[in-house]
Amino acid sequence: TKWVYTFGDGAAEGRASDKPLLGGKGANLAEMCSLGLPVPPGFTITSEVCNWFYANDNSYPPSLTVDVDAALGHISRLTGRGFGDPDKLLLVSVRSGARASMPGMMDTVLNLGLNDETVEALAADSGDERFAYDSYRRFIQMYSNVVLGLDHEVFEEILEDRKARLGRELDTELTAAEWQEIIALYKARIEEELGNPFPQDPKEQLWGAIGAVFSSWMNQRAITYRRLHDIPESWGTAVNVQAMVFGNMGETSATGVAFTRNPSTGEHALYGEFLVNAQGEDVVAGIRTPQNITEAARIAAGSDKPSLEKLMPEAFDAFVTISGRLEKHYRDMQDLEFTIERGKLWMLQTRSGKRTAKAALKIAVDMAREGLISTKEAVARVDPASLDQLLHPTIDPKAERNVIGVGLPASPGAATGEIVFSSDEAEELSGLGRKVILVRVETSPEDIHGMHAAEGILTTRGGMTSHAAVVARGMGKPCVSGAGSLRVDHRNGTLLAMGQTFKKGDIITIDGSNGQVLKGAVAMLQPELSGDFAAIMEWADAARRMKVRTNAETPADARMARSFGAEGIGLCRTEHMFFDGDRITAMREMILADTEKGRRGALDKLLPMQRSDFLELFEIMAGLPVTIRLLDPPLHEFLPKTEKEIAEVAQVMDVPADRLRQRTDALHEFNPMLGHRGCRLAVSYPEIAEMQARAIFEAAVEAGRKAGELVVPEIMVPLVSLKSELDYVKARIDQIARNVMEETNVHIDYLVGTMIELPRAAVRAHVIAETAEFFSFGTNDLTQTTFGISRDDASSFLETYRKKGVIDQDPFVSIDVDGVGELVRLAADKGRAQRPGIKLGICGEHGGDPASIHFCEDVGLDYVSCSPFRVPIARLAAAQAAI
Ligand code: PEP
Ligand code: MG
Repeated sequence: TKWVYTFGDGAAEGRASDKPLLGGKGANLAEMCSLGLPVPPGFTITSEVCNWFYANDNSYPPSLTVDVDAALGHISRLTGRGFGDPDKLLLVSVRSGARASMPGMMDTVLNLGLNDETVEALAADSGDERFAYDSYRRFIQMYSNVVLGLDHEVFEEILEDRKARLGRELDTELTAAEWQEIIALYKARIEEELGNPFPQDPKEQLWGAIGAVFSSWMNQRAITYRRLHDIPESWGTAVNVQAMVFGNMGETSATGVAFTRNPSTGEHALYGEFLVNAQGEDVVAGIRTPQNITEAARIAAGSDKPSLEKLMPEAFDAFVTISGRLEKHYRDMQDLEFTIERGKLWMLQTRSGKRTAKAALKIAVDMAREGLISTKEAVARVDPASLDQLLHPTIDPKAERNVIGVGLPASPGAATGEIVFSSDEAEELSGLGRKVILVRVETSPEDIHGMHAAEGILTTRGGMTSHAAVVARGMGKPCVSGAGSLRVDHRNGTLLAMGQTFKKGDIITIDGSNGQVLKGAVAMLQPELSGDFAAIMEWADAARRMKVRTNAETPADARMARSFGAEGIGLCRTEHMFFDGDRITAMREMILADTEKGRRGALDKLLPMQRSDFLELFEIMAGLPVTIRLLDPPLHEFLPKTEKEIAEVAQVMDVPADRLRQRTDALHEFNPMLGHRGCRLAVSYPEIAEMQARAIFEAAVEAGRKAGELVVPEIMVPLVSLKSELDYVKARIDQIARNVMEETNVHIDYLVGTMIELPRAAVRAHVIAETAEFFSFGTNDLTQTTFGISRDDASSFLETYRKKGVIDQDPFVSIDVDGVGELVRLAADKGRAQRPGIKLGICGEHGGDPASIHFCEDVGLDYVSCSPFRVPIARLAAAQAAI
């Protein structure tokens, strides 16, 4: 096995594609060398050595000593220097470097090879004693900290104490002799703390550093980082050993970091900072204020410190050329580290740069237009989830955050407003032009008006598919749900958060993108949907196979979804149409009626309202498919709950409160989610389904008349587990269709299909497909019933599951491919086998989740349907899944 790979002087044994073996840093150093760029020579010890190290009781492969010696010889040949040789001194840096960048690991040891003897050689060599002793003390500090495990403070203390005694303020004011004294103190202290002197043998130093890098792979920070970012332990880390170059050899030396494009705006202009006469860690440490690299950036920043462009024009020109070459070569924005030693430029690192969502979008679009990448690659490079940030107002990253609690990021975007504790208050205050945040323990369908009126919603209970979360996403309103550390005290009308008490009218801000609840108002950035956003969407549409529909029932949502590019409605939850004003009264009348005749009377009142709802949706969706679902929730959801509410409703309806209470009690269910809902209602009360079917068909006829174009409604039956249930309901629908056709003398094409949202339906999908003309996977209920966990209450323990590593992902957020997904796949296959070409879609929350959308592409669904604000995300994710 080859354990060590060398690089330097225009050649390298490795290349960029060797990341698994050499780590990101090592692979890119090799690649830069092969491109002929100025890189200090060095070598990389592979990640396989790391794995060997752990498999063999923290030891090395037998040949490694020889290999490392040979590689040091390689550096010597290229530099004309020798490791530990006081006549021709070679110093090295030692850096970790895993396949993925891992900030939690050991980082860097610089100036390795210095000791009491070689420091004098460095002084003679550089002609600068002060520089030499400063480098030595930096090395002692770094090495002791990173390799020997001593606290930074130990040295800070000595240094500060010494400076105070000498009356010096800045490190730069210390002379060579003074540094020498400090070094002596450092060394004495190290021996005192560790019982051993600071290692003087350069080889011992080197092996100490190599061991520290490998050991850091298993330190707690690295383990945690790996867990959070799904990085397997088996990857291991590589070690990079490289000849030192010095950015701190006087005024013609410098060190800096740069991006080939602006990482926060995406602007196509070199962007970066540097420090004169400094070493790498000085730039990061933020002790001195770095200077701009380009003149343009200096002017824009209004800085009076000269740019690199002005100060070192030759090195600057070389750097501009190299950064351009690297970007072209890697075909992506690069994050660069460089050092200038006495006017000569050296490259120390290149990698793809991290960037904001906005920058990612602009860079992808610009690069495609520049011809650097294809439009498909541009589409693939934008993280769909990050579009959320672009579609909603977001908190200005520069703003200060005063966090008073954290819940689930239930619906993206940020909102500021006055606290209100009831939906009526929300409506009242917003009517007066005030901005409010609706704060509830949880919401119910009766809060729809308050949610509409509020800028955002905050609940202290409930998960990602709780009522508040689902409805808020549908409305595109920011929502933080399940913020369990906050307490709503209804009696006193207060919100308790971190020992503070907030009253109605106090201002808070919620950040639905990360679940934070903040005190006061915070500066926001507004979204922009044209330009780059529109371009990427257009390219995504050209690349995808699956259609993207929306879950919408209100005209406002449907229009919004259309403007976001929805290609029809995949789920119209008709129950949401029954909660407004008159309608809920008619609905309650129907529920209270004892006889079918009484129910039909109340339903007659609802019919024209439903018809006009559907007509409007058909018109907005002109020519696009619209799937309308028959009533799904248990009837008790429409009835008042508290005594107070019962009394109020009884008065409005002019019925005895007792009767209302009796009916409410009768409808009470212990497990309403598993109760008298879905098609079970249609079997018990077919007249409800008949009214809805009639409203749909009559609206279709009218829409057809008005537009001169046929509407083909898709009628969807929820919560089916038996074919016979669907047959029963479909027979009623077909009968109504015949009636309406006869009455209007217009032929209507329509489809009757079902939700597949119960395990039995999935298992018997081939039989159900004898009747069903389409399937829509209701993965909310399917997840709930497959796991046997409640979608409303599961968040209370799912978070614990996640923390303990029992699950990686909330299955209500991203589809459980192995379990729920297997049922979807099974049902899709069975459905297609029975009815070739059967239309298949998904309308659970997963229809807007990028990972789940990949799964849907894999299964070959025809479309995904999601809430309006998720439509662009789904378009992009569907494109990526198809590429
Ligand atoms: C589902 O169960 O996935 C679904 C879309 O229906 P609902 O969320 O309305 O139960
Ligand atoms: Mg459902």
